[in-house]
Amino acid sequence: MLENRYSKEIEEKWQNEWQKYNIYQFDESNDCKKPIYSIDTPPPFTSGKLHMGHILSYSYFDFAARYKRMRGFNVYYPQGWDCQGFPTEVKIEKKYGMKDRKEFLKHAHEWTNDMIEKMKAQMIMMGYSPDWRYEYKTISPDYHKKVQLSLLKMYETGELYNAEHPIHWCPRCGSAIAKAEASDLERTSKLNYLKFKCKEDIILVATTRPEMLHACVAVLFHPEDTKYAKYANEEIETPLGKKVKFIPDKEVDKEFGTGVVMVCTFGDKQDVVWTYRYKLPIIDAFDKYGKLINAGKYDGLKAEQAKEKIMEDLEAEGKVEKKEPLKQIVKVHDRCGKPIELLRSKQWFIKVKDFSSQISEDATKVKWHPEFAITYLTDWANFVEWDWVISRERILGTPIPFWHCEKCGTWVPPNEDELPVDPRLEDRNCPKCGEKMIGENSVCDCWVDSSISPLIVSKWQEDEEFFNKIYPCDLRPQGVEIIRTWAYYTIHRCKRLTGKIPFKNILLNGNVLAPDGKKMSKSLNNEIQPEEVFKQYSADALRQWAALSGAMAKDRPFSYKDIKYGKSFLTKLWNTAKFIEMHLRDYEYDDQDFDNLREVDKWILNRLHALIIDTTNHLETYEYHHAIKGLHEFVWHEVCDYYLEYVKYRLYDENPENEKSKRAAKYTLFNVLLNASKLLSPFVPHITEEIYQIYYPDPAKFIVNSSWPQSYTQWRNQEAQEKIIVLNEFMSKIRQYRAQKQMSMKDEIPKVKVFTYKPEEIEYILDELKNTGNIKTVEILQGDLAIQFGN
Ligand SMILES: [Zn+2]
Ligand SMILES: [Zn+2]
Repeated sequence: MLENRYSKEIEEKWQNEWQKYNIYQFDESNDCKKPIYSIDTPPPFTSGKLHMGHILSYSYFDFAARYKRMRGFNVYYPQGWDCQGFPTEVKIEKKYGMKDRKEFLKHAHEWTNDMIEKMKAQMIMMGYSPDWRYEYKTISPDYHKKVQLSLLKMYETGELYNAEHPIHWCPRCGSAIAKAEASDLERTSKLNYLKFKCKEDIILVATTRPEMLHACVAVLFHPEDTKYAKYANEEIETPLGKKVKFIPDKEVDKEFGTGVVMVCTFGDKQDVVWTYRYKLPIIDAFDKYGKLINAGKYDGLKAEQAKEKIMEDLEAEGKVEKKEPLKQIVKVHDRCGKPIELLRSKQWFIKVKDFSSQISEDATKVKWHPEFAITYLTDWANFVEWDWVISRERILGTPIPFWHCEKCGTWVPPNEDELPVDPRLEDRNCPKCGEKMIGENSVCDCWVDSSISPLIVSKWQEDEEFFNKIYPCDLRPQGVEIIRTWAYYTIHRCKRLTGKIPFKNILLNGNVLAPDGKKMSKSLNNEIQPEEVFKQYSADALRQWAALSGAMAKDRPFSYKDIKYGKSFLTKLWNTAKFIEMHLRDYEYDDQDFDNLREVDKWILNRLHALIIDTTNHLETYEYHHAIKGLHEFVWHEVCDYYLEYVKYRLYDENPENEKSKRAAKYTLFNVLLNASKLLSPFVPHITEEIYQIYYPDPAKFIVNSSWPQSYTQWRNQEAQEKIIVLNEFMSKIRQYRAQKQMSMKDEIPKVKVFTYKPEEIEYILDELKNTGNIKTVEILQGDLAIQFGN
């Protein structure tokens, strides 16, 4: 018997039971004949708490896993953790101070494990169903080993290389970053019109970055700009007194400022192009900390300070014509939000530029859900101009496995069987000259780790049989905002390393915005904590919100309305199940009862038949909001508002003569509740498990691994469907009439007239009309279909 109320205790009970009976376990044995469905689960960053975006995305593929299990798949659902991020490093730094490297790493491991335990508890609380035996952590030696192995293999083919290139650099973090980690920030700055001098004439040059004047190596104008034609290739003097060339170039924007632009080494990407085009000298403008170098008296100042000081000096010297406010987009580091610079630096790179079209083509072989999202990847791939810089000047990360011999000038990798290695902690001598080598000091970009997640979960280069079973994975679920990083790098790296595209389907979710439609953030104080929502509404309510959250790959505001709807649906389902259970308690299921169905029974079974087909189709295409909406509609409206009302009089009928009709109603209720519960199970596994156990109180058998409902063709019945549509319309008219007259259901309506040209069809619904409508007499008359009250 169901308890009075659905509660979180019930959810906890089933979470424990499912764990106890290992029902999420992947069957590794070769005897298992079930087809495999493998998920390349996203490893969340180990922040210690799930946010609403996690809840959405993890619910999405948990629905897929639960559905596939019920469809008879041997589901492989591992869970990983992305541990080596910059935020963890900052937290450890803050908490323990910068100690020596060994101690730092020890703390990092402790911290990370602590965070993982917290997040794991939240995942269990949400009813997620990974097989915890396949947990992995990017911080573990095993993971490092695989990442390093992947690097050695790419080094052998020349796809990993060390070189000096201009790269994006975050002075705040003191590290190289990939272009994919840079985001745009709009801000208002000043456009300064500075006085340059050419052949005794003043030439105004507009710039937002006077702090880069010392790195100015040329000044350019557009060849069609007649104002400057006479100065072509003359010497021009910067306000700092330095002489450079004044060059015509077609790529200059005539409309910006005065149509003249100063080229500074690595001022921006276009500067890099011009520097190489005109073989201009290279002057490094900043050091790693964002301080000026090669700038004479301004050396050592940070960019913002230098800007102020230089402008002050130039103004004093009368070298500033005017200043205008200017809205501009600056590139900032997505992790710390601080402006980034271009810097020439020796770094490790993975080749991506040459593979752009291959990556785009490979992406087309993956099935994208939704389809349009592939353009996020192809647009990005077409836009990639530089290789991927993978080295980061940080501590917490997978060490890049190379030593450098200064004498021979070569890089020396370890042997594969020595992995994992940490060149920072281990000295080695050069195999050629015997000289002591220097271990590489930087670590890998986190995406280097996570871009081989399909190889990790499939035990690449470790267990060939297992690898062949799992790889390529069936499903890669991920957030839409990391397509240009995680999806892009994974497709590329795994394809290069195995020759095969790493996954067959990619399922994308968007971001969860705050209820006000803004991005959730601590500073805006609009964050919603899943734990609080969970406490108030239960996991199954939260899971319905995730399913309801609408179109894939779109950002959407968090909706308390959906959560509340989810919760009230649980209450409705619970009460319905209690009612049905009460009537089924003494009922022994018998297929023969099918022969005695009334039209209403046939109608609801026909609806159930269609619901099974629709829900199955929606789950096959990952369209969860369609699936859950159909289920809500069926249970709440068709079953509760109509069908239950139609059969009540039969269920309470004690006349033995009507026993067959009563049993037919019970047969129908049995099938409706059982199958609706199964269809709902991937979304709301806890409540449906509790309901299911009324019918199958066998402790080894659970709804979550029972078989998916079949749509029996004998349930299909279009005729009954049409008749009951008429009945439903009459019923809602009767309800309206009662409401108008302020009559309760107990008040009998003395008489109604029903008009129809097919009186024989009304016969089938007459009992329901009278009994459920509480009508004394129904008079059937010829005429257009209608119902009329009173005499
Ligand atoms: Zn930064
Ligand atoms: Zn050497």
